[in-house]
Amino acid sequence: EVAKVDPTSPQASALKYVHDSAVEGQNCANCVYIQSAEGDWRPCALFPGKQVSANGWCSAWMKKA
Ligand code: SF4
Repeated sequence: EVAKVDPTSPQASALKYVHDSAVEGQNCANCVYIQSAEGDWRPCALFPGKQVSANGWCSAWMKKA
């Protein structure tokens, strides 16, 4: 099983990553950097080798086209 991003890790902390988005309409599932269309936990281009929550968020969020 692929490890989940630790929100307290230096990179996640620098990007203010959280497992539960507090920003209306913005989450990992609709971010351009998400690498999968399915699953509660998915790869993200900014966190190689880790998985982010579909409902997560970080300050690098950009709307998926
Ligand atoms: Fe989530 Fe996008 Fe941040 Fe990756 S870049 S953690 S998909 S908001």
